[in-house]
Amino acid sequence: MPLRALLLDFNSYFASVEQQLRPELRGRPVGIVPVLAETTCCIAASYEAKRRGVRTGTGVAEARRLCPEIVFVQARPRVYVEMHHRLMTVVDGVIAVSEVLSIDEVACELTGSWRQEAVVRELAREVKARIREEVGECLTCSIGVGPNRFLAKTASNMQKPDGLTVLHEADLPEALFRLELGDLNGIGAAMLERLHRAGIRSVEALCRSSRERLRRVWGGVEGERMYDRLRGVELPLPPTQRASLGHSHVLPPHLRSEAGAFSVLSKLTQKAAARLRASGFQAARLGVQVAYRHHAPWQAEARFQPMADTLPFLRVLAALWAERPRGGRREPTKVGVSLWDLSTEAQATLPLFPDGTRTPGLDAALDRLKARYGNGAVYFGGAFLAMEEAPMRISFTHIPNLGLEADTKRDGMALFESC
Ligand SMILES: [Mg+2]
Repeated sequence: MPLRALLLDFNSYFASVEQQLRPELRGRPVGIVPVLAETTCCIAASYEAKRRGVRTGTGVAEARRLCPEIVFVQARPRVYVEMHHRLMTVVDGVIAVSEVLSIDEVACELTGSWRQEAVVRELAREVKARIREEVGECLTCSIGVGPNRFLAKTASNMQKPDGLTVLHEADLPEALFRLELGDLNGIGAAMLERLHRAGIRSVEALCRSSRERLRRVWGGVEGERMYDRLRGVELPLPPTQRASLGHSHVLPPHLRSEAGAFSVLSKLTQKAAARLRASGFQAARLGVQVAYRHHAPWQAEARFQPMADTLPFLRVLAALWAERPRGGRREPTKVGVSLWDLSTEAQATLPLFPDGTRTPGLDAALDRLKARYGNGAVYFGGAFLAMEEAPMRISFTHIPNLGLEADTKRDGMALFESC
């Protein structure tokens, strides 16, 4: 089984951001707290504090007892989100992020030569070096690589901080035996208790359990999925389950205009098309959603033969956009693009696009350029406003879609002025 997944997890993220921005905290035990009060608990701890036994959830009084010299720092969520964007720009420029899993964790699907251990190790080294050079030495990360995302995540937990662990199918399951059951993704406190009740008290025992036994312990198909995951089987959602792929984005104030909204829609469409191609799917329906201040939201969709090409998707977007409601001082506040009716190329029926609307050669070239120079290096001109003006430092209440924030290279060129 090839190496198909990479997972990058920043170490002690909140505390590391504080140590990066406040050099006086470096090398010191730091506890991040929601408020500066004796009654609260740490939501994150620096490695210096972790070595003294302070963990997420440790109360302030207990942390002080474990580590009298600990420095408590009040959390600054906005700062952590801003840093997230800076980091994602760097990370996505090297490893083409497939999915942002949380503020400090991203996954990357490996394809082609990236599945070779030497190549993926070099990528991992490069991403670490670029984070160090472009963001700072305190933002270390642990990278795991494996035959599926579950094992990549597990590998990322095996060496902290600043780790790089590659798990091969041939290493399984023995490489996992030194872990605790609770170290495995998907085994929380309740599941741990069920496993114990079933007499499964170690990862080794878990790995030696039959598929049927795990099915019984889990009480369903999730147990079989765990059996497969432990063996490196990749469990992609079948197209019927993976019904759509899309992005949406809250517009920053300066893009709350028709031109700004369309520009962001164009960018989201380009990103969604690239993700669609990367995951081996085609789509037969494109939907657009726009929310307005003081007006009802608008949505529209179009159907077509299955495709995965950016330019025809942008033509569909432009045609739908031409039908948008106008007038009444509409102020768009949020836009979204969804690709529906997904199928794999193998499922597609022939003939494909006899009218020549497909542009696979162009997309392949664009995807290669992006992989090499970053997502913002080349794009279709409709996204120009969003590419050039969307600032990184916007107050987000959630982690925004990577599609927008990853594309901040200012030296990109617009390929087409229309669409
Ligand atoms: Mg982390």
